[in-house]
Amino acid sequence: MCGIFGGACGNCQNGQRHIFSDLMAGGNNIGHRGEQAWGILTEDAGEMFCYRHEGRFGEGVTERRAAMLAEKAKGRNGLAQALYSTRRKTGEKKQPKYMQPWMANFHGKKFGLVYNGNVYDLSSLRERARERGWRFQSDISDTEVIVALIATSEKTDFIEALKEVLPMLKGAFALILLYDGKLIGARGKFGIRPLCVGRNGDSFYLSSESCAFYAVGAKISRDVRPGEIVVVGDGSSGKYVRWAEEARCRICIFEFIYFARPDSELCCGKTARHYRNEAGIILAEEAPVDVDLIVSVPGGGDIFAKSYARKLGIPEDEGLFKNRYGLRTFMAPEGTDRRKLQRIKLHPLQEVIRGKRICLIEDSIVRNNVARETVLMCFEAGAKEVHMRVFSSPVIAPCYYGIDMSTREELAAANFSLEQIRERTGADSLAYLSLEGMIRATGLPKESLCMACFNGDYPVAPPTEKE
Ligand code: SF4
Repeated sequence: MCGIFGGACGNCQNGQRHIFSDLMAGGNNIGHRGEQAWGILTEDAGEMFCYRHEGRFGEGVTERRAAMLAEKAKGRNGLAQALYSTRRKTGEKKQPKYMQPWMANFHGKKFGLVYNGNVYDLSSLRERARERGWRFQSDISDTEVIVALIATSEKTDFIEALKEVLPMLKGAFALILLYDGKLIGARGKFGIRPLCVGRNGDSFYLSSESCAFYAVGAKISRDVRPGEIVVVGDGSSGKYVRWAEEARCRICIFEFIYFARPDSELCCGKTARHYRNEAGIILAEEAPVDVDLIVSVPGGGDIFAKSYARKLGIPEDEGLFKNRYGLRTFMAPEGTDRRKLQRIKLHPLQEVIRGKRICLIEDSIVRNNVARETVLMCFEAGAKEVHMRVFSSPVIAPCYYGIDMSTREELAAANFSLEQIRERTGADSLAYLSLEGMIRATGLPKESLCMACFNGDYPVAPPTEKE
């Protein structure tokens, strides 16, 4: 999962408006979707400027560098990306080839691309691009395969080239491209990864999440529909082209649970906050708890905790202090000691939890190493009992669509029973939200959700090739 954002500024009074500040503002608001690298790309009269950097969005931009970037990043159209690398790419994350945006030529004109998702079974597609003259920098980057297929397409019209390439891609994706003064968005056939359109007067924006529009004074117009291409900018207020037959929405339910910002509208106007609030009420019915205090694990659990506590009539307090400069543990690259990261990120407040029976609120348990550490830290701080409530179901199957949980071995619930997980966590009791509860909390029909990591029902068949 990554964050992607693009803008096409309309004419303002003097016609001199540049997209740079919008890219930095919008990019910052999708920065929570990936903290390993970030980048921007601008287009000015066919010339492109690209800047990429490691770290969370905006990291490394001193006042001097910001002035340099503002000077160089000219043009009314641009792209921004916040990178979250999945496991198979992590080992080489420092290589710039994994950073985005990408830039290449299409029949002599430059295009730029930012991408969110995971595309697999690529060997024949790589071969096709190679035969057409593309020299690969990487033998594992799926982004480069997409770029190579577009760049080597024999179609002379850019949209026609996209309509040729997109059906070849197996997996989940959302793309934003810049070409010839136009901003172009494309969403996968099942809409697993989100993408929406925003507008502020004659300026148009595309983003993974609608919260980015607020930062640039725009409002969400609509979602890019599954299997759709949208073209805005250069005087066009929106052209929508269907590239996939029988497309239908199967948006990732983890967007509601964890990834998306609570204020983002994800599908048919449903916000992530809606899910989190409803899930709190539903879990209070499904698995109430008898404790003195509800304590949210900060970051993911805050809204769940408030809603659950309100419904049960139990006080809720901040028993865990969050270091705002700690890395989001779920997103930490492989090899990072996630338990240590948890201690950097969280500090239990003894004065709040000592001597109390507490219930910790988590959005999800994927690998169990983080939850175990959090429970232990609370006992060390003097809690009498520590219970856990989880606002999603057990994760039992890998995700092949761009989330870093690609093997069954790493998933706690795929290998252990509920009681075994409770024991390993060290909690006095443990309960998860049911599958039905999750669906109810979204307010969407089951058929419009991807829940494959919870129930094994994959909208797109899993990979057959080993990368
Ligand atoms: Fe989201 Fe799970 Fe589907 Fe992956 S498998 S897209 S994490 S719901």
